[in-house]
Amino acid sequence: MLKDALLFSFNAVGSMAIATLLYGLLQRHIENRILRHTLVGVVMGSAAAVLMAQPIEIINGYQADGRNAFIGIAAVFGGPISAAVAAVITAFMRLWIGGAGVPLGCVMILATATLASFWKVSRNSIKNRRTTTDWLTLAAVLIIPINMMLLVPIPNKAEIVAYLSLLTLVNVMIFGRLMETEQRRGRRERQLNMAANTDVLTSLPNRRKFMDVASAVEAKRQTRKGLLLIDIDHFKKINDAVGHDAGDEVLRIVSQKLADQTRKSDIAARFGGEEFAVLIDAIDQDDLARFAERLRKSLNTNVKYKGSEVVLSVSIGATFCGDQPFSFQNAYNSADKSLYEAKELGRAQSVVTALAA
Ligand code: GH3
Ligand code: MG
Ligand code: MG
Repeated sequence: MLKDALLFSFNAVGSMAIATLLYGLLQRHIENRILRHTLVGVVMGSAAAVLMAQPIEIINGYQADGRNAFIGIAAVFGGPISAAVAAVITAFMRLWIGGAGVPLGCVMILATATLASFWKVSRNSIKNRRTTTDWLTLAAVLIIPINMMLLVPIPNKAEIVAYLSLLTLVNVMIFGRLMETEQRRGRRERQLNMAANTDVLTSLPNRRKFMDVASAVEAKRQTRKGLLLIDIDHFKKINDAVGHDAGDEVLRIVSQKLADQTRKSDIAARFGGEEFAVLIDAIDQDDLARFAERLRKSLNTNVKYKGSEVVLSVSIGATFCGDQPFSFQNAYNSADKSLYEAKELGRAQSVVTALAA
């Protein structure tokens, strides 16, 4: 029994290390919260399932393994979604293994996921780092369902409950801290990434992000793309008349409107100064022209700022690239020419062209 317990403990630590590494990858690369939390549940549930395949056999049909710590950790680092996913995976594994312990095993899994989710949700309002006391309370919460084993007629159940409780405590203390370091690193990396791609003043994607997206579109040889360059009219005068602060506010308002009017698959970015670029999917040149006019009209407005009023208008130069694979340089040159034309024609208008084949 002792040898089994030692071997099992080493296995558990190995599974935790692998699960932590995978969690780190998810934390860095998956932006979508719900998807990330679901995958955290898959990782934790799968790691627990691997451990469940090499358990300590207590008596025919009953087995001890470290699954509860994995479900608990899933709840802590991915919330109730993760806990539920991990619980479903481990419950399926328990059903597949079979034996007399199946009903109790499944009830314990459910209880563990529920209690751990409550622990997590009750702690959600507290933003600072988890303390040793926090980890101890989580371990205590996870130990509660283990005591259900006392209800079934198996030998040495008091010792088994004591061993599993100790295992849970050790697992949570090691695993929790490993995961916390990884969570901090991943968060920092995502924040840095976000900051590098975002314009500080307007929170719109910046030129670097726009160029990344444009390069990806080029690499995929996508067609039917429309590039719009949007330039605020007489912005220098706005700054001179009502001040730089008001000018900044105008930039933020324009950015918000651009963000509101572009679809998720499109991108609007602050290109620099008072110039913005939008890359969209368009059906044809007319479709792009309609979009450009709608955008322009929505930006033809008066902006009030601290008692003064600014008359805002923009000029837009746009290019539709038709069936030609998108080339940023060609599209930009053409849209820039159109923008120049719009300014020459008296501003507050859009000029839309199609790239010559
Ligand atoms: P046009 O209609 O020909 O586009 O005239 P314009 O005045 O808009 O164009 P110009 O390029 O001469 O001036 C752009 C101004 O934008 C100059 C610069 O001071 C101002 N600007 C650039 N970045 C910022 C910023 O972040 N905040 C503010 N408030 N002003 C900025
Ligand atoms: Mg300009
Ligand atoms: Mg301008």
